[in-house]
Amino acid sequence: MTGNEKFHRIAQFILSKLNNSFVFQKKLELLKLTIIEDAKYTNGGCQTDLSNGISYEILLKIKPDDPVDYQIFVMAHELYHLLFEPINVLCITDYCVTDNSFAFTNIVRLDKNNCLYGESLQEMVCDYLAVKTVNYMQRIPLNEIVNNVAGKALRKPEQYMLTDELINLVSKHKFSMKNKLDEIFYEDDKRSVANLFMYTCVTGCLSTFISNYDSCMGNGWWRILCESLDSYAKNFLPSQSKDDTKILKFIKSEFERFRLVQNKEISALLKENLPAPVCSAAALNT
Ligand SMILES: [Zn+2]
Repeated sequence: MTGNEKFHRIAQFILSKLNNSFVFQKKLELLKLTIIEDAKYTNGGCQTDLSNGISYEILLKIKPDDPVDYQIFVMAHELYHLLFEPINVLCITDYCVTDNSFAFTNIVRLDKNNCLYGESLQEMVCDYLAVKTVNYMQRIPLNEIVNNVAGKALRKPEQYMLTDELINLVSKHKFSMKNKLDEIFYEDDKRSVANLFMYTCVTGCLSTFISNYDSCMGNGWWRILCESLDSYAKNFLPSQSKDDTKILKFIKSEFERFRLVQNKEISALLKENLPAPVCSAAALNT
């Protein structure tokens, strides 16, 4: 199978995992794809050009001796970037009141001083989904893929676990590739999203998730979490440094604090007999 055929097979797989696939389909139509099939290393890049209308570009370099699974991982990673790339030329959509940020991509945020945050988080989510895609398409155990990727692409295996924990922090159902990425289900005749983080990433309304997170943790704490993920992910040293252990501990304690506050709020609400908890996927009920 040629690189081009592999790429389009993965794109079709991602399309099949979207309830609303129109935007991604359009991005694929606008995409300029270049695949170099005899490169020294396998890697890729995804770019959006907003200066003259809108166009997308993916460049893939494939080393032919690299395992097919790793090639699929790299292709899927870039396709998930494409899924999260902006569609708005002005880039000032999805304002979030708790940290004064806007969507730069569906995951990366832009503040009023033109500073970005969340870039590492976006990389981690693209990695996470790419690992899940290889697992689903090639039937390879998750831990095997995670370790292969960590060895080849200089990632820490813990990044996968952290992303998994984060994605499932506010969710009705544990995220699974068996469902759609923007899965919606009905409960007591009410429409609800299965996984609030993934739903808002895919549909470009992450501010809903951030507001939920900040309402539990305090305004601006989502940004602090993202900046901690930046410090953790950008340190590529394979061995865990002292700083790494400290940051990892902080991130884990933040997740724990979120869970505690969320449970407290839910039980307080139940005691007062009030409707829907603040921090749950129920926030998106219509
Ligand atoms: Zn990337």
